[in-house]
Amino acid sequence: MKKIAVFTSGGDSPGMNACIRAVVRTGIYHDLEVVGILQGYEGMIDGDFIPMDRKSVANIINRGGTILKTARSPRFLEPEGRKAAYQQLKKAGIEGVIAIGGDGTFTGARVFSEICEIPIVGCPGTIDNDLIGTDYTIGYDTAINTVMEAVDKIRDTAESHNRLFFVEVMGRDAGLIALRSGIAVGAEDIFIPETKTDLDRLINRLAACRKDKSSKIIIVAEGDEAGGAFEIADKVKKALPEYDTRVTILGHIQRGGNPTCMDRVNSSRMGFAAVEALMAGKRNVMIGIMNNKVTHTPFENATKHLQEIYPDYLRMMEILSL
Ligand code: ATP
Repeated sequence: MKKIAVFTSGGDSPGMNACIRAVVRTGIYHDLEVVGILQGYEGMIDGDFIPMDRKSVANIINRGGTILKTARSPRFLEPEGRKAAYQQLKKAGIEGVIAIGGDGTFTGARVFSEICEIPIVGCPGTIDNDLIGTDYTIGYDTAINTVMEAVDKIRDTAESHNRLFFVEVMGRDAGLIALRSGIAVGAEDIFIPETKTDLDRLINRLAACRKDKSSKIIIVAEGDEAGGAFEIADKVKKALPEYDTRVTILGHIQRGGNPTCMDRVNSSRMGFAAVEALMAGKRNVMIGIMNNKVTHTPFENATKHLQEIYPDYLRMMEILSL
């Protein structure tokens, strides 16, 4: 193997840059030529490739976002788009590809492998932490710390006014950001897409402690079945008008910012391991870290959702927030 490519795809996440840096420098260490593909699968289709050297990744380990840019690519969903992408990779003499992205990116890579003979290895880059085969995804730790810091600030003002706050966090299909940050801020309740939402139960709990003059924080993942934070707050307000209710949507603040130490280190380990996996002849696998060890999980196994830890977390949250 002489030449490899690296790209970022899907939603950006803090730590992607640290991973790109590790791929580039590990590749160069092993005498590989490394190119960056701009804007995910879009740039692959258009042949938007740039040479990467050691200097091109200097001073990016601490920066959020991705220097290679990222995109969602409707064209790659079509067979013609994937065919064009394969032609571009062949034309450029690329013999191995490292994809940094989430479950959509790896589903795309798996479909692509039906026509593309060039091996692809993935690094899990998504703030959602919704992939099987890794304890951490790149950006998740930064995102939950961002949420935690923001909600700590909301708690100060909520406590001063005895207010009930509904805070909406990212998570269309996956509730781990809500769950983890909710526990870290001592939330009174957490609503996530993976579990059934019982608003009556929340209303009864709030009714039981309406005389207790203190703040209440409810964390809502954006994909919860009962609706977003505004919708849920409206319903609760109708049932309990005596509560002074407010809503905050944290939004894209959760994607940005300097990666935490954990994200920088894990991203570096994964990028490093991805290059070595390609060189060892692995293909169509996602690098992960489980129990502090590097793992390789086939794409088709990595893209299923994780469910089993939720009941434990939710039960604990309920007991601790009583
Ligand atoms: P995040 O978890 O942050 O949303 P992601 O990798 O899941 O990241 P997606 O937008 O779902 O982000 O996927 C990235 C790209 O992967 C899509 O824009 C599309 O080009 C490609 N892709 C996803 N699913 C498929 C598929 N079934 N076939 C071909 N390509 C796909």
